[in-house]
Amino acid sequence: MSHNVQLSGWRAAQRFARDLFALRNDDAELARAQFRSFSKQMPLLYLILICNATAVTVAFFKPTMLLETLVIPVIICSVAMVRAIWWRRQDGAQSFTDAEIAQQIQRTCKLAVIMTLAFELWCMWIYSSGDAYARGHLTFFLGLTQVSTVFCLMTMRAAAMRVAATSTLVFILFFSTVDQGKMLVEAIVLGCVGVGMMIVTHRYNLDFSMLICSQRDLRNRQAETEKLSEENRQIALTDALSGLPNRRQLLVNLDRIDDREGEALDGLAVLFIDLDGFKDINDTHGHQAGDSLIRSLSVRIGQICPPHSMLARVGGDEFVILIEAPDASSVAKSMAERISDEIALPVLVDRHVLQVGASIGIATNADGACSSHELLRRADTAMYHVKTGTKGKIAVYTSTMDRGRLRRLAIEAEIATGIGNDEFDVVYQPVVDAHSGQFVATEALIRWPRRAAGMLLPQQFIEIAEATGQIHPLGMFVLERACRDVGPLDDVTLSVNVSPAQFRDPGFLRQVSHVLEQTRFPPQRLQLEITEGYLLAQPETAIRTIKSFKAMGLSIALDDFGTGFTSIHYLRTYGFSHVKIDKSLLANLSPNSKASLLVAGAINLARGLDMEVTAEGVETHEQAALLRAAGCNKLQGFLFGRPMAIADLRALHVRLGREQLPPPIMQGLKSTGT
Ligand code: C2E
Ligand code: MG
Ligand code: MG
Repeated sequence: MSHNVQLSGWRAAQRFARDLFALRNDDAELARAQFRSFSKQMPLLYLILICNATAVTVAFFKPTMLLETLVIPVIICSVAMVRAIWWRRQDGAQSFTDAEIAQQIQRTCKLAVIMTLAFELWCMWIYSSGDAYARGHLTFFLGLTQVSTVFCLMTMRAAAMRVAATSTLVFILFFSTVDQGKMLVEAIVLGCVGVGMMIVTHRYNLDFSMLICSQRDLRNRQAETEKLSEENRQIALTDALSGLPNRRQLLVNLDRIDDREGEALDGLAVLFIDLDGFKDINDTHGHQAGDSLIRSLSVRIGQICPPHSMLARVGGDEFVILIEAPDASSVAKSMAERISDEIALPVLVDRHVLQVGASIGIATNADGACSSHELLRRADTAMYHVKTGTKGKIAVYTSTMDRGRLRRLAIEAEIATGIGNDEFDVVYQPVVDAHSGQFVATEALIRWPRRAAGMLLPQQFIEIAEATGQIHPLGMFVLERACRDVGPLDDVTLSVNVSPAQFRDPGFLRQVSHVLEQTRFPPQRLQLEITEGYLLAQPETAIRTIKSFKAMGLSIALDDFGTGFTSIHYLRTYGFSHVKIDKSLLANLSPNSKASLLVAGAINLARGLDMEVTAEGVETHEQAALLRAAGCNKLQGFLFGRPMAIADLRALHVRLGREQLPPPIMQGLKSTGT
């Protein structure tokens, strides 16, 4: 056991000794640092050698011993001088490759030992030819050379160790035997100094390599931090879903464009794309389907983008394309067409065929006068114009759009405060039975009588409320108020208008049943009116929702029938219980006119599908008679009563009772509530 311990101890000592003298090639960076450090000392080292050799030469020079006392030191000094100059020229060894450095280190290790030994052996050769003073000088300079050589090579452990070991050994051997042992003290002292130098060199080297390693660690950590912060920067500027640049990156690019001093911006165009119907897809098929759709569309749009353009996703369903090209304006227009077509193509997501449209606003800098940020705003305005209008899917910005938008923005803000300030009211228009003239139903219509800037018609603000989502609170306000108001009029059915935005809201069904519960309004007396635009866009969802409402006992009416494109097929598929013929069909209604044929056709069609028909906008007795003759079930219009306040409607209800009154008697009724 103890033998084994001894053996392993001996092996460890051997390994340690080998390591002390070995040249390490495994760490190129450490080698470079060592090389750079000692290469700066090398000229100094050779200078010391030259000085010492010169000093010894002066002390020992004898014309009779020219070879020993002149030629050899001159050779040593010349070699040292050449090496000193060479090292001086290397200037920190910046230009060396790793392989060259390894080679130089190896060479230096050998040369340092050779030069030191050459100097030492020469000194020993001439030692005996000098007197006591000269010998003293020589011993001093020899020792000095050894010490300074080791210190100059300190950072190169292998070289320093080899020089220290060989020169000390030779010194001890020589001086312990020369002059009958008189120099033994010098030999022992220098031997101790040699060992001391080796210990110092070893420790210094450990510290030096640790310093280099920690510097390297620090640098690596710095590089890692820089890489991480660059990655973070990229993440902050990239849209995670589509991988496209995000709004922040777009704004950075716009800043960059605006900063280009003196350059005209006439080769710049911005396309603002907003998807139509994306919210419905999210609501109906879930956010994952919406995300897949965004990814697919991002790729499709990206493929259309020309070089020198940037596609960014700047919002949930908003994209911006920035085009920088001399013909940016025409490129933008032709691209908008292609993008519109491309986006309209169906996308297959999880076995569902999804389809959306796009509203595209274009702004070009033809006059070269506005900033790129202003261009973005203009493109956004043009897109907004498309979104809120009915004509087309693409619009190029004009300054008139700003006025329209400002007005809309103002109304949007007013609606928000109007809801809080109780500025809205609900009025009721009576609906009568076409044959008995009996008051059987009423339609709730919203009014904004307490608007500070003056009254607005529903058409002027409903559309804005739909675009901003404010229709949800407004719609629920009307429904709740109407249920409370009309609830006591037992035999009267209530019709409430519902916007497409409300109808496609997955929470709408729950909200309606909540209101019915709260107000205790019988579902059988409630009818919801929807327009056909929504149905065509979302047939599957519409059919499902209509079914659910009917299951609750409500009836659903198709409003404004005759203004759109509803076919028999659609009427049958959706399962409406009622149809309301639009007032525009009643204009020019006279016996045997084309209009009356059209209305009669529409009524027949609906009745054939077991739907009740209400004609709205009835203003004359003639119209009423014709509609009655054509088979219309109910009539609504100024002839029977204008939209009125609930108090008037209640008074009307009391006055009429359940009597059957002919239209001429109803004619006398005047509304007070509009
Ligand atoms: P609508 O649902 O077709 O309502 C009928 C519109 O025709 C009402 O206009 C009514 O005042 C008007 N009207 C009724 N009888 C006659 C008539 O004999 N002659 C003429 N010329 N007009 C008549 P109003 O109240 O201005 O509402 C316009 C539209 O605004 C409504 O059309 C409806 O689509 C929408 N709306 C009104 N209130 C609401 C509401 O609470 N929610 C929603 N989503 N939309 C509403
Ligand atoms: Mg209506
Ligand atoms: Mg209508």
